[in-house]
Amino acid sequence: MSDTSLRVVWVYPDLLSTYGDQGNVLVVERRAQQRGLNVQRVDVRSDQPVPTSGDIYLIGGGEDRPQRLAAERLRRDGGLSRAASNGAIIFSVCAGYQILGQEFINDLGQREPGLGLLDVVSTRGEAERCVGDVLADIDENLRLPQLTGFENHQGITHLGPTARPFARVRLGKGNGTGDGTEGAWNDTVFGTYMHGPVLARNPQIADLLVKLALDVNALPPVDDRWYEELRAERIAAATAAP
Ligand code: GLN
Repeated sequence: MSDTSLRVVWVYPDLLSTYGDQGNVLVVERRAQQRGLNVQRVDVRSDQPVPTSGDIYLIGGGEDRPQRLAAERLRRDGGLSRAASNGAIIFSVCAGYQILGQEFINDLGQREPGLGLLDVVSTRGEAERCVGDVLADIDENLRLPQLTGFENHQGITHLGPTARPFARVRLGKGNGTGDGTEGAWNDTVFGTYMHGPVLARNPQIADLLVKLALDVNALPPVDDRWYEELRAERIAAATAAP
């Protein structure tokens, strides 16, 4: 695959990168390089245009005010939406997930339009924040191992008819609507509430993004021991009696 190049775009690290979500771009980059791919990583600050020619876009979580600013700038810029209509693969976390939806409630308590790339609407939960470890079973169509991560969000997310639940929680709140769903996806756009960073805890999701971007069914195996140790340790901690 050495002639194949992959353009990975990390969107707004200055506004959206809580809980080490930047680790997601490092994991995608590393796992693609381990397969001999030539990776071009582009970090796009919020005062820069989002390039439309990326293969994979990653967008992280954020506090409420930076989340509103990011949504305003992404709407104004239009680059991420154009990339999505070109078929780019987009993976989003928490605030990033809410921004990709139809709308969310911003830090001023107002309805803020999202980019409408995922058919979800986020509101503010009445109850306390959803905080803690999560274990969930990922949509079986994606053939991925159990999802591990942690969540910390006030928003709750309702799925519309064209968004499929990314996973179903065994432990934790996920979308927080009480229906047991966590995250959402359509064929090219993914959203999750999981931090961790989630792709370090679930490297097969990073591989899925690379496969979708390259339109291949499989990638050569790589050494997963370090990831497996991390997963085992976090799953044990999450399931340990309080
Ligand atoms: N501000 C959003 C919420 O609380 C997202 C939080 C986050 O990204 N961790 O719902």
